[in-house]
Amino acid sequence: PAVERLPERAAVVDLEAIRHNVRVVRTVAEPARVMAVVKADAYGHGAVPVARAALEAGAAWLGVAHIGEALTLRAAGIDAPTLAWLHTPDSNFSAAVGAGVDLGCSGWELGRIVDAAREQQRPARVHLKIDTGLGRNGVTPDRWEAVLDEATDYQDQGLLRVVGVFSHLAVADEPDRPETDVQLDVFRDAVALAEDAGCDLEVRHIANSPAIFSRPDTHFDLVRAGISIYGLSPFPDQSSSDLGLRPAMTLRTLVSQCKRVPAGQGVSYGLTYRTPGESALGLIPLGYADGVPRTSNGGPVRIGDRTYRVVGRVAMDQLVVDLGPDADVEALAGGEAVLFGTGDDGGPTADDWARAAGTINYEIVTRISPRVPRIHI
Ligand code: PLP
Repeated sequence: PAVERLPERAAVVDLEAIRHNVRVVRTVAEPARVMAVVKADAYGHGAVPVARAALEAGAAWLGVAHIGEALTLRAAGIDAPTLAWLHTPDSNFSAAVGAGVDLGCSGWELGRIVDAAREQQRPARVHLKIDTGLGRNGVTPDRWEAVLDEATDYQDQGLLRVVGVFSHLAVADEPDRPETDVQLDVFRDAVALAEDAGCDLEVRHIANSPAIFSRPDTHFDLVRAGISIYGLSPFPDQSSSDLGLRPAMTLRTLVSQCKRVPAGQGVSYGLTYRTPGESALGLIPLGYADGVPRTSNGGPVRIGDRTYRVVGRVAMDQLVVDLGPDADVEALAGGEAVLFGTGDDGGPTADDWARAAGTINYEIVTRISPRVPRIHI
């Protein structure tokens, strides 16, 4: 849509960029196939439209954390192979089995999963997760054979099928660290034991975005691509364009007010900033309720062809940029303000905001709140 037709605040998501990024990841990962990770509402980009775009571009699988996220995809009519991997005892395993959602399993869920299979009168499809060193979910290596025994017992009873073995890497964004090799060794052993135990595996998967780009030896049958399909780099020292990726989300609004102020004008709560001389301030109607980090002094905002900096504290609904003494306030008022986007023409990116806020680009896009409408183009 044309800019003037957009809502006053919007996270504009370019689905062609998503498709492009999925194609890039496919090329890098070949012959392994691609799981598009669309948890957390597709890292804030909108799970259903992103999932559809990713599948159009050749992603073979979808991955989410929660069963509820998988059911949202099913409810939208998306029936691609889908894996949900993070559960609690209250998770709705029965709905997942009924909807044909594959379940990640860290061991403790097996009893609940087979109860669900009995209820649904169909075998559950399970990907057993081995904790190869990240120390989060997954079966610890010392318990792996016991869990395999239990799972293959249920498999023999026709209650489940172990179709995958997977794990998650801890330091793949630092390709030289030796822990990834250790994790891979543990993973290969776990896969071999599962195959020896009689699991007819369709997929073995451990690679996330940083591993996809830096460690081909992690690709196995399937790679799980999250941040890269959104066009953002998983590496602190490489940009999107270094990897051939295109950022998909643009966070934009209109300048709400511009005004001239004298030297020494305090700005926002705590008056932590004072104008060094006569200046002009621009009010941007996005704040921490919209997901802009409160601790992001100096975050960039593009208005027209210049980039200005956030001054003072980000408030709940608004933030302020110092436009400088020579600003044409008449011209800037009401103009489009872009907090981050493609980075074309030197415009600000989610990476710039991550640096300003002392966090990672993942958090910048994922935290954009539901108050900001997502517009898919
Ligand atoms: N696999 C699992 C289990 C994850 O939790 C995530 C996201 O954190 C991913 C894959 C995707 O990681 P990335 O966004 O680095 O590609």
